[in-house]
Amino acid sequence: MFGRAPRKSDSTKYYEVLGVSKNATPEELKKAYRKAAIKNHPDKGGDPEKFKELAQAYEVLNDPEKREIYDQYGEDALKEGMSGGGPSHNPFDIFESFFGGGAFGGGSSSRGRRQKQGEDVVHTLKVSLEDLYNGASKKLSLSRNALCQKCKGKGCKSGIAGKCYGCQGSGMKVSMRQIGLGMIQRMQHVCPDCQGSGEFISDRDKCTQCKGKKITQEKKVLEVHVEKGMQHGQKIVFDGQADEAPDTVTGDIVFVLQQKEHPMFKRKYDDLYVEHNLSLTEALCGFQFALNHLDGRQLLIKSNPGEVIKPGQHKAINDEGMPQHQRPFMKGRLYIQFSVDFPDSGFLSPDQCRTLETILSPKPSKTLTDMEVDECEETTLHDVNIEEEMRRKQQNHFHESYEDDDDDEPSMSRVQCAQQ
Ligand SMILES: [Zn+2]
Ligand SMILES: [Zn+2]
Repeated sequence: MFGRAPRKSDSTKYYEVLGVSKNATPEELKKAYRKAAIKNHPDKGGDPEKFKELAQAYEVLNDPEKREIYDQYGEDALKEGMSGGGPSHNPFDIFESFFGGGAFGGGSSSRGRRQKQGEDVVHTLKVSLEDLYNGASKKLSLSRNALCQKCKGKGCKSGIAGKCYGCQGSGMKVSMRQIGLGMIQRMQHVCPDCQGSGEFISDRDKCTQCKGKKITQEKKVLEVHVEKGMQHGQKIVFDGQADEAPDTVTGDIVFVLQQKEHPMFKRKYDDLYVEHNLSLTEALCGFQFALNHLDGRQLLIKSNPGEVIKPGQHKAINDEGMPQHQRPFMKGRLYIQFSVDFPDSGFLSPDQCRTLETILSPKPSKTLTDMEVDECEETTLHDVNIEEEMRRKQQNHFHESYEDDDDDEPSMSRVQCAQQ
């Protein structure tokens, strides 16, 4: 790499790759390459690395000048650019130049060129929780590239495009650049004349529909079926519907479901969560209310006789959660978390308080005597937002334990607990 005198390196590998002796004749080389290349062609399920190696070996040994350099100094000498270029070419082009294209009799893809894998096109599809509960179908209009119908993606009227002069049909160009003393950088780039297609189409022969571009824009309407019980983040795939391009296996259109926030319900797996506020009277004396479900049904929610609901208490209704995907008759639970609105300070007059005391605790179990009060210390109660306080404390704690503890998992879970 640094312009040293080439040192002797391995000069047998290429012969071994092709399975021939060091004094093989050009005929023997050809035969060996032909056999091995067909056997190892990636289109026939062969190993692309092996296929590349074969092409590399054959390219060098088939060129008398390169073969001599290789025999004398080995592979490194060729890489160092002594002969003005080491093994460089696309193995598929070498294969093609050998067999003249259509080696497998098909000849359907342009001159035997390898089929590329087209990219998938990914869209986000926003859906409501109602859509995921009931199922929905959405029509989406997309525009995409499609192979020109008129020329079947050939770009020309004759159906046979010429070879690009700029790159001899390989689609790639190699340039050498001196980047320092004796250092040569080889750069391979897409041929600017043909944009990598390796083809040249004369103006006369260009397809009138696509002007030789081979592809046209197409409007397409896709109907996306959102099935009952699908999850946020789930993918709906349309196989082979993405942009078409010549010599390319068309990629997929993928919709990723994104559930919009629901004003009332939260979803966790197949369960639904809803919050409901009760007045203190309802919490103590009973309640009933109608809950609008995601399919428009009204559920009657009511307390049992004599039941008291405490702040933060949960109740569950079976089979009113989300339907399971592909088993929509199986449903999760609907959880209701109750909060209780207490009246504001000053709401009760002293008289009402006394009345209430007789109802709530008819026999006060413990009252302090004046003597006992005198023995206590006076305190002041402050209003606090306890969630805020806890979050701040956990954060401080988290930072501390993060600093002196490599294993931060325990503190992580504490933070999560605090946020629930
Ligand atoms: Zn070209
Ligand atoms: Zn066309």
